[in-house]
Amino acid sequence: MKRTNTFTVRPLSDNGEQLLRDLLDASAALWNEVNYLRLMRYNDKDGFKGDVWDADTGTLEGKYKDVLGASTAQQVIRKNSEAWRGFFRLKEQFHDESNTSVTEHPEPPGFRGNEVDGRQLKTVIRNTSYTVEWGDRSRLEILVGSELKDRYDHIGRLRLEIAGVPNWPDYEKQGRLDLWYDETDSTFRASQPVTVSDNARATPLAEEKAALDIGANNLIACTTTTGEQYLYEGRNLFDRFRETTREIARLQSKLEDDRYSSERIRRLYRKRTRRRDHAQEALCRDLMDRLYDKGVSMVYIGGLIDVLETHWSVETNAKTYNFWAFKKFTERLVCTAEEYGISVEVRSEAWTSQECPQCGSTDRTTRHQDTLTCPCGFEGHADLTASETFLERNTSEPVRPMARPVRFEWDDHDWSESPRSHESPKEQRTDPSTVHCDGNVASGESA
Ligand SMILES: [Zn+2]
Repeated sequence: MKRTNTFTVRPLSDNGEQLLRDLLDASAALWNEVNYLRLMRYNDKDGFKGDVWDADTGTLEGKYKDVLGASTAQQVIRKNSEAWRGFFRLKEQFHDESNTSVTEHPEPPGFRGNEVDGRQLKTVIRNTSYTVEWGDRSRLEILVGSELKDRYDHIGRLRLEIAGVPNWPDYEKQGRLDLWYDETDSTFRASQPVTVSDNARATPLAEEKAALDIGANNLIACTTTTGEQYLYEGRNLFDRFRETTREIARLQSKLEDDRYSSERIRRLYRKRTRRRDHAQEALCRDLMDRLYDKGVSMVYIGGLIDVLETHWSVETNAKTYNFWAFKKFTERLVCTAEEYGISVEVRSEAWTSQECPQCGSTDRTTRHQDTLTCPCGFEGHADLTASETFLERNTSEPVRPMARPVRFEWDDHDWSESPRSHESPKEQRTDPSTVHCDGNVASGESA
């Protein structure tokens, strides 16, 4: 299994901190120089011949290798090449009409700040150029170039203290290490991809099943064969995502004609993505933890992409795609489930969201905000009902009577049980303050 350890690192002395900053700053400077040569060629500027791959990166590697070490200089250049390849791939998808997964025109790779306003401190270290020692006092050691070594009268291997315990301290192989300074909370961070033995996987406690309904207002509605129902609320997150998206649009409208973007815009994009990824990652873990405890060994996920294409407006579609990054989210779910030994199946069958569980009708039901009602007398939470129907379709065993659904809210760090957890949909609907609140949020965004 491929996994990633992320952790905070601290220099052991002021001298060490200065050295680390110089290393990250020089890496950013190299990135910028390489990127400049490529961008000028991409924009077909006078004096820059050929396409982006004709830029002379060899000379730049020579210029920086004494500071960074040859391997780090190479890695930074390679990473920039990957960013350009990624950009060309996205651009191709954007212009391919049969492909609807890229909805915004992609931008060429950006610069890592500049000398005047400060560069974005960031580097990448080859897998053979660093070592990690896990233990009571975990340590990271990285190679630095001879010029930095001399400047700081240093031994050439920079030692950093690692804070906290990683998810995967035992691994068979380590990959390229990303190392950067996180301005938002003034810490140095690292991300280490590792290959973990398949034996690290847990074994399910029983053979229960669960089905997931994925949406934007409720991120996940889940029903299990043990009779549990979970609802992860997404309104706050979606609102903040939308707020940031509006701010990005506002800043974009003020850009001069020949500019794609600005550092501020890029920072907002990064912030938006980071916030979403953090919430998604935590959701996957929280959910799989619960499902594992209930003995679930199989999870069904509805084929949501098909659903979006046929049932949602184009505008809502685009927003929701961006917000959820569905493919990535499904991959994340699969990946987390794997650690718990839980299998995941993505089923792209007919939509269950509008089906009445009592009489089976799909065209007589109405959905108002979160409530599904049917002339036959049924009334229930639309997304939870959908996950229940979806579960019944995928299992031959009877689904046990449902406990009261547990609702979770995101507070920027954790998913915790919401105070609304013990209200039934009916109670919510008749509570005027809740109706008002739902009405505001749902406008234009609800399914
Ligand atoms: Zn009915």
